[in-house]
Amino acid sequence: MAEKPILLGIDLGTTNTCVAYVRNKIAKVVPSDRGALILPSVVAMSEKGDLLVGNVAKDQMVVNPRNTIYGAKRLIGRKYHSKVVQDIKHYFSYEIVEGVDGECAVMLAGKVYSLPQISAFVLQHCKRVAEATLGHPIQEAVISVPAYYNDNQRTAVKEAGSLAGFKVRRIVNEPTAAALAYGLNRGFDHKVLVYDLGGGTFDVSVLQIHGNVMEVLATGGDTFLGGVDFDNRIIDHVLEEFRNETKIDLTQSPVAMQRIKNAAEAAKIDLSLLSNVVIELPYVADRRGKPVDLRIPLSRERLNTLVMDLVDRSFALVDQVMGEKNLSKAEIAEVLLVGGQTRMPLVQGKTHQHFGKPPRKGVHPDESVALGAALLAESMQEIDSVTLVDALSMPIGFAMPGGRFRKVIEKNTQIPAQRSFRLPQAKEGKMQDLDVFQGDSDKIVDNEYLGTLKFPPEASGQRVSFNLDEECLLHITVEGLSPDARPQEVMLATQDTPEALKAAWQEESERRQKAAESTPAERPKGILASIRKVFGSE
Ligand code: AMP
Repeated sequence: MAEKPILLGIDLGTTNTCVAYVRNKIAKVVPSDRGALILPSVVAMSEKGDLLVGNVAKDQMVVNPRNTIYGAKRLIGRKYHSKVVQDIKHYFSYEIVEGVDGECAVMLAGKVYSLPQISAFVLQHCKRVAEATLGHPIQEAVISVPAYYNDNQRTAVKEAGSLAGFKVRRIVNEPTAAALAYGLNRGFDHKVLVYDLGGGTFDVSVLQIHGNVMEVLATGGDTFLGGVDFDNRIIDHVLEEFRNETKIDLTQSPVAMQRIKNAAEAAKIDLSLLSNVVIELPYVADRRGKPVDLRIPLSRERLNTLVMDLVDRSFALVDQVMGEKNLSKAEIAEVLLVGGQTRMPLVQGKTHQHFGKPPRKGVHPDESVALGAALLAESMQEIDSVTLVDALSMPIGFAMPGGRFRKVIEKNTQIPAQRSFRLPQAKEGKMQDLDVFQGDSDKIVDNEYLGTLKFPPEASGQRVSFNLDEECLLHITVEGLSPDARPQEVMLATQDTPEALKAAWQEESERRQKAAESTPAERPKGILASIRKVFGSE
C-alpha cells in the first residue's frame, strides 16, 4: 500500500515557529535544526551575503541588527502608510519600506523584500528540516494565522506558504487549532475560551466543542498586543532609568538597542520564575573613551505595574467578545492559555481571578497551535473526521460618502458565508469604484483598506456578492457581466491606476465579445484574469 503523504501543521509565530506532523494518529512536534521544539522566526543576511534563518539568524542579531528581520508577522499584509505601521516602525532595528504595491516591505542587505518572501524563508527552512527529520519530501501544509487577521494578512500568509514550495491546504485560525489539539477525539460537549497571547498578537475565541465538531461562537483580538509590547515597556523603562542615571541616550545606537531588547525579553522570561532580576549590559556606551555599563534591577512587581494596562486590555477584549454573544463566565467550562506570553504569572493569575477558576493545565502554550494544525491537516485526508465551524472576526464592508463604513458581512458571522447587495445606478457609461475595508469601526479611516473594486458601466444596478470561504478569504462576484449570466469574480485592486484599469476593462470586454462568439469550452476566465494581469496580483 502506498504510504500516506505527510502534511505539516505550522504555527508561524511572531517570535517563534513551531512545526508538527501526525503519525499513527499522534501529533508530534518536529524538532528544529538545534533540537528545540520551536524555531525563532528570524531571517538575516550575513556580512558574507549568506541567508540565515532561525537560531543562527537570531544569534547574530546583536552585531547585525540592520540586516536581521524579526516580527514579520506584525507587518505582513499591512499597508506601509497605515497608522499601525507608522506607529510601530521605530521599534524595529531594520528598515521598513514601502513595497511596489503599497504594502509593507523590508530592506535586507540593500535589497527590498516583501514580507511574504521573508516568511517564506522561515517556512522553507521548516520544510527542509521536517523533510530531513521525517525522511520524506513534504508538499502540503496547514498554516495557522491569528483569528483576528484580516483578508490581506491571510492572503499574504498563503502566498508565503506557496513561495516556500507548499501547497497550502488550509489557513486555520490559531485558537481553533488550539481547541482542536485540546478536544479532538475526547468526546467533550462544552464551551472553551482560548486566550492566546503570543509574541505579537492577542486572540480570544469562544468555541463550542461537541465531539469532533468545533464551532467558533465568538472571536476577537488585537494584532498589536503581544509579548513584544511587554518587552517594549521594559525597554522604555531601562532607557529612562539609564538616561536619568547617566544622561546618555541609547536610542541612537542600534547595537545598544538590540542588546537592551534581548536583555529585556530575557528579564521578562526570568521574572516568570524569579521575583527579582538585574539587567546587566557591560560596555553599553562610552564616555570620553571610558566604557559605561548598564545595571538596572527589575522586580516582578515592577514589571507587573509596567505592563498591567496591557493585560487589562486583553481582559477587556475577553469581556467584549463574550458580551457580543451574551456569553457568561459560568458557561465557560475551560480556559485554554496559548502563546508563550501566557507563561507570565500575572496573566495566569488574572485569568484565574477573571473566571473564578484556574486555566486548564496540560495545554502546551508553544505547541498546541502547531499540533492542532497538524491534526487538522491529517483529518483533511480522511472524510468527515473533523468539522470546523469558524467565524469572521472583523466586519467587511465598503466606504460610503462621508467616510462611513457600510458593513456587508457582520462580525461573528459563521463562515463560509455569502452576503449580497445591489450596486447603485451609475451615470450613463461611467465606471464605479467601491473601496473595501475590514474593521470594527463605523469610520473607514480606522479600518484596514483591503482594496478597490472597479465596476464597468454594465455592472450598474447589478448584484454584488461578498463570499467568505472556509479559510475566511474574501472572493467578490458581480452579476450581469458574463454572457452566460453567471456571476464573475472581481479582484480587489490595490493601486489606483485608472489608465491601466480602463485598458483592462477594454481588453475584458473584447474578450467577452470573443467569448460570446466562441463555444463554452473555449471561454476565457474573464475579468479576474485580466485585472490580475494588470495589477500584478498573480
Ligand atoms: P509565541 O509567539 O507563542 O512563541 O510567544 C512568544 C512570546 O512569549 C515572546 O514574547 C516571549 O518573550 C514570551 N515568553 C516565552 N516564554 C515566556 C515566559 N516564560 N514568561 C513570559 N513570557 C514568555
